[in-house]
Amino acid sequence: MKFEVNILGCSAATCTLKRNTTSQLLNIHDKLFLIDCGEGTQIQLRKFKFKFQRISNIFISHLHGDHYLGLFGLMSSMHLLGRTKILHIYGPPELKGLIDLNIKVSQSYLRYKYEFHPTQAENSELIYEDSTILIHSLPLNHRIPTTGFVFVEKLKKNRIIKTKIDEYKLGVEEMLHLKNGNDVFREGEKTIYSKNCTLAPFPPRKFVFMSDTAPLTEGLELIENADLLYHESTFLNDQIDRAKHTFHSTAEQAALVAKNGNVNRLCLGHFSNRYKELSSFLDEARPHFKNCILASDGLNIRI
Ligand SMILES: [Zn+2]
Ligand SMILES: [Zn+2]
Repeated sequence: MKFEVNILGCSAATCTLKRNTTSQLLNIHDKLFLIDCGEGTQIQLRKFKFKFQRISNIFISHLHGDHYLGLFGLMSSMHLLGRTKILHIYGPPELKGLIDLNIKVSQSYLRYKYEFHPTQAENSELIYEDSTILIHSLPLNHRIPTTGFVFVEKLKKNRIIKTKIDEYKLGVEEMLHLKNGNDVFREGEKTIYSKNCTLAPFPPRKFVFMSDTAPLTEGLELIENADLLYHESTFLNDQIDRAKHTFHSTAEQAALVAKNGNVNRLCLGHFSNRYKELSSFLDEARPHFKNCILASDGLNIRI
């Protein structure tokens, strides 16, 4: 089953010709989740060939323009292209007022319903759940209330050992039974034990999104054992004072968060457009956390 992160934009503050502002599209078990929606996100969705009407849940981290100004355009295009399916939006409470004002002053309407789910940046809470995934908010340390997001798969069922299907001529119902850890009883035959026919489930996969933020020193248990952490690294160490002043992180600080949070892989992003060449971000991060990559628009990361 798919668990993929697609980077649609990884530039801080303003876009460049190579990098759009923040947005990511997650494909989890063929369900699409959008995180942040910088200006031009709908163009990036088209460019990288994603069907944006398939998105039903949009998560906005905070109300700096580089993280949400594309939302109005995307919502409008969804309407113009005939959407009728409900859209769920998660974000700071003030975002609802902005969306409604935008609709009101343009004297327009939406053909579809949208439901708004306010987030808060005080403590982590469960904000979304379905049969396969749990999504928690993650309070960050930025100039205005900001949350990251933690996506965790639900614990999966046991896996049937393929050779056992023929050996016991297992039916669909029986396989489901065994996957759930129950034994199968057939009249006049020996019991078929779940433990003999199944393997333990794959461990649930976890992705954490942290942008924008000064490096966190507390609350790191929420990111522990993440398969992938996307962490902002707006600056290099040459701008460490500026990073502190603006509540952003350097590449080295992001690497230390990954290390202290005991994650498996780190993806750096949200690069200031003062940096044309990005290899120095890896040079500063890798001495502290080796398994580190750089975001780029169009990058697909499989978890
Ligand atoms: Zn930003
Ligand atoms: Zn910001």
